[in-house]
Amino acid sequence: DLSHGTILYLEDISVSFDGFKAINDLNLYIDAGELRCIIGPNGAGKTTMMDIITGKTRPDKGSAFFGQNINLMQLSEPEIAQAGIGRKFQKPTVFESHTVFENLELSMAGDKRIWPTLTAQLNGIQRDKIDEVLEIIALQEQRNLYAGALSHGQKQWLEIGMLLMQSPKLLLVDEPVAGMTHQEMDRTAELLTSLAGTHTVVVVEHDMDFVRSIARKVTVLHQGSVLAEGSMDEVQADPRVIEVYLGE
Ligand code: ADP
Repeated sequence: DLSHGTILYLEDISVSFDGFKAINDLNLYIDAGELRCIIGPNGAGKTTMMDIITGKTRPDKGSAFFGQNINLMQLSEPEIAQAGIGRKFQKPTVFESHTVFENLELSMAGDKRIWPTLTAQLNGIQRDKIDEVLEIIALQEQRNLYAGALSHGQKQWLEIGMLLMQSPKLLLVDEPVAGMTHQEMDRTAELLTSLAGTHTVVVVEHDMDFVRSIARKVTVLHQGSVLAEGSMDEVQADPRVIEVYLGE
């Protein structure tokens, strides 16, 4: 049973690839409304963990629950997305030859095949939803620009907006500030911080300054399990964490 307030619950999760334990008795509990950062050296299992949460990879053992007792182990990848878990990969995959508005519209439709007929059929509620997301991602002024004309940062925000069109409860975000300017990083920090509370956000990120600027709680993964958890100051002062990062 989920304890009150826990939205994601991973317990004793393990997965091996050709005998190599990429995830090793992992326990992770995320509260609803949290903005959690996951850090850890290369090969720590961060990507594999995200793959398990989204159903892309099946663990060999363990349990995974989401929201009101939804057993993630019993759901397919699309069913997990349907249940409210959205994932943003590192590289933005916007539709460059469509406008920002159309990209959001398309994400709402989900099914790309019916997209060409959509614009005419948008109702007020759907337009309001797109306007609301445009405001959250601060791209109102770019709404009629081709996505291909956006900066790298703007493309990343648009892709977060595309996820928001699906109204996810939990957002998994993979290295959101890779390749960004300082200004873009500040704007991304604002965006992710503003999403927390109404959403639950889990961010995998290498940039420690960025992690420090957004995270209240940081989880350090190492060799497929949790090495340390706490505030950025707490985990950075942890001798085990220092040892792991010096060894990189
Ligand atoms: P991180 O994202 O923290 O860098 P990963 O989850 O990508 O770590 O990888 C954890 C370990 O599992 C690495 O040693 C990686 O080589 C291995 N691994 C990940 N996916 C596969 C796979 N599909 N087949 C074999 N080994 C894999």
